[in-house]
Amino acid sequence: MNKRDQLYEGKAKRVYESDDPEILIVSYKDDATAFDGKKKGTIKGKGAINNRMTNHFMKIIENQGVPTHFLEELNDRETAVKRVRIVPLEVIVRNISAGHFASRYGVEEGLVFDEPVVEYSYKNDELHDPLINDDHAVALKLASREELALIRAYALKINEILKAALLEVGVTLVDFKLEFGKTSDGTLVLADEISPDTCRFWDRETGEKLDKDRFRRDLGGVEDAYLEMRLRLLGE
Ligand code: UDP
Repeated sequence: MNKRDQLYEGKAKRVYESDDPEILIVSYKDDATAFDGKKKGTIKGKGAINNRMTNHFMKIIENQGVPTHFLEELNDRETAVKRVRIVPLEVIVRNISAGHFASRYGVEEGLVFDEPVVEYSYKNDELHDPLINDDHAVALKLASREELALIRAYALKINEILKAALLEVGVTLVDFKLEFGKTSDGTLVLADEISPDTCRFWDRETGEKLDKDRFRRDLGGVEDAYLEMRLRLLGE
């Protein structure tokens, strides 16, 4: 699989065309950003960890019946994925209050919800990814009602799959962000990444944060947290 023209460079990944028009190559970077891009830095080794961890989760999710864009891990940092048109929604699932949920609604972090909360942000950097509901998404023609129903069902199923996988390694899944895309034949699939950049992971015993909040909040031990998650999930 050869990398051809770079299609896109995002905050944490570059995307390249390949010899096959239906296949793209994603390359994970060590760059980290937070607070709408205002905070910038590097997390050494992050690209390789997020690549491996995303693929680990994508395989589990695909095996349990949710279609994904994952095709093949090419090397440490690069993975072949199906070409999709990204649905411009950040789909956030929350099990416990944290981050913007806590600040927006004026509650402490750590409240355990009776049921998961699913919310959407409109992926639009100029507008700073505003929170929207189903009606807004339909009005803006970002997705149809049917697609939103499928996205919600997939997001809740992925939550159960990830919670179970993380429980086995002593980690609580607090919240996470997903992105979905449509393949050329119109199939809705899970895309993007699932990593400490896009999830909040708390150690079940100590509550220690094992995710990008260590970078966002200058808690120190950022690289070690990513390495710890890799060790627990991938055994290396
Ligand atoms: N998240 C993300 N990308 C974003 C915004 C949020 O991956 O642009 C993830 C974040 O890591 C967390 C969850 O989505 O696991 C919920 O994030 P929240 O809305 O609390 O915002 P944050 O405080 O992370 O900016």
